[in-house]
Amino acid sequence: MATVSPQTAIERGDAVKPRWYAGWWSAARRCRSPNFGPRPAGVAVSLLVVHSISLPPGRYGGPWIEDLFLNRLDGRADPYFESIRGLRVSAHFVVRRDGELVQFVSCDQRAWHAGVSSHRGRENCNDFSIGVELEGLEGESFEQAQYDALVALSCALARRYPIDAVAGHEHVAPGRKRDPGSGFDWRRFRAGLTGAGLPDWDFPESATRRNRPTAE
Ligand SMILES: [Zn+2]
Repeated sequence: MATVSPQTAIERGDAVKPRWYAGWWSAARRCRSPNFGPRPAGVAVSLLVVHSISLPPGRYGGPWIEDLFLNRLDGRADPYFESIRGLRVSAHFVVRRDGELVQFVSCDQRAWHAGVSSHRGRENCNDFSIGVELEGLEGESFEQAQYDALVALSCALARRYPIDAVAGHEHVAPGRKRDPGSGFDWRRFRAGLTGAGLPDWDFPESATRRNRPTAE
């Protein structure tokens, strides 16, 4: 039997042990976005940024997140889309409600997910982070399949990149962004990482506290 290159195997979807290939994770469905650029020279990938997105907001399962990241969103499909027309954005990964993992940008490249942002005093998080969008809505909860997929992806990322911290978009762009929001259970995510044997990453401070009633 002729052997195929890992790249060919990945493109064909052969059942091979998941691996990284030029920043692409073979276990993810690939959906290439043109919205990316090079990372600054010599900058290591050290942060994971968790987001949430749904299009239109609160509606799950449609093709529109992918359409947005591929710059082909049909503005006539929903009145909301008019408000985000012309937006050029991307994330490295999207985790759908059923846990399906889709990759849009090579992790070796800089995706356009965080915008104006800073983490621990360091600006422009896109330079040194991986962006993962969970299909969901700020304030709403997420599926167990999404936590499972996020933990599995985190393990794969940790093996390949020197990531030592994770934060929500709301933490790196406070006042401007609110995702993934109060419905994302940081302690559950953290417990999943610990259960998978990952060293404890630096978590946002609010993620280490018990959720308090907002009236407090
Ligand atoms: Zn976000």
